[in-house]
Amino acid sequence: MHYNGVIDRYKKYLPVSDKTPVISLKEGNTPLIPALYLSKLLGEDLEVYLKYEGLNPTGSFKDRGMTVAISKACEEKVEAVICASTGNTSASAAAYAAKAGLKCIVLIPRGAIALGKLSQALIHGAVVLALDGNFDDALKLAREITDKHPIRLVNSLNPHRIEGQKTGSFEICDCLGEAPDFQVMPVGNAGNITAYWKGYKEYKDAGKISRLPKMLGFQAEGAAPIVRGHAIEKPQTLATAIRIGNPASWKMAEQARDESGGLIDMVSDDEIIEAYKILASKEGVFVEPASAASVAGLLKLHKQKYFSLKPKTQNLKPKIVCILTGHGLKDPDRAIKTIKEPKAVKANLKAVLKEIGY
Ligand SMILES: *Cc1c(COP(=O)(O)O)cnc(C)c1O
Repeated sequence: MHYNGVIDRYKKYLPVSDKTPVISLKEGNTPLIPALYLSKLLGEDLEVYLKYEGLNPTGSFKDRGMTVAISKACEEKVEAVICASTGNTSASAAAYAAKAGLKCIVLIPRGAIALGKLSQALIHGAVVLALDGNFDDALKLAREITDKHPIRLVNSLNPHRIEGQKTGSFEICDCLGEAPDFQVMPVGNAGNITAYWKGYKEYKDAGKISRLPKMLGFQAEGAAPIVRGHAIEKPQTLATAIRIGNPASWKMAEQARDESGGLIDMVSDDEIIEAYKILASKEGVFVEPASAASVAGLLKLHKQKYFSLKPKTQNLKPKIVCILTGHGLKDPDRAIKTIKEPKAVKANLKAVLKEIGY
């Protein structure tokens, strides 16, 4: 059977009708990979899984929400779409707008976007404006523009984005046959944690699952407004996708945390890079730094004995799902800065054999 994207698969849970022109690049249906190394490392009779969202068409989970947002924008006949972006929203908006034949305007903080993402927005034909300001400034401007002009905002403030993104939790439950016990994920503008929690609750109401996971969100230390309890004027982290000082869905993220009995905590850039290297070198999964915040959080909680102190559920082996939000090729500079450059060797057999220890 052909797979036709998240709107086709989950339409009964989405705000679409027969009149909605579906703009899809066959996003979603991403693998839930058993993390054997991490499961063993935790050593507590836990099963860790990686939801590899980097395998979406533009390389991040943003595509799940964008297929719904752009399809609805077409249905409602808007003139153009606009977004503020730390990179992945613009890559996704530009691609889906291109497919729909819609004009797309992108506002980015100048100099703060990973190269792969910038190249995507440009080549898909968006009007890209690099602002002297940070993400929060760009989002404020985008909101002002859409308040006054027939242009649709496609940031996660657009409820259609959240609707599409909740399909990630449906897929996890369909794959495991039940909700996981814990879900770990990075938190930036906080749309995704809002979306996943909404998805789990809807699946429970529909009788597809019998319980709900604890939602465990992680911000970067230099961009942790929810953890610190106040907005951060100048957020700093090498995980550019979560470099956000005043998340749009702040309240909703706290609601997901509190209703689920979970937590929102922070990890340092060093912890993020450590997790980034483990994922690539032990699990074979290359992600961008922001995505590694989920595994950095998993390891931090493990060190604090968070999982062993939890009362055991009826499940013999509690399941933990880490959301890996974006592909490592989005930000190749970071990989090269993290690991030393390849060694230069003469092109002869003796020299090569000596280097490889034979
Ligand atoms: C957008 C993004 C995030 C943060 O998601 P929010 O919904 O803003 O919290 C994390 N990782 C990657 C790769 C992203 O693109």
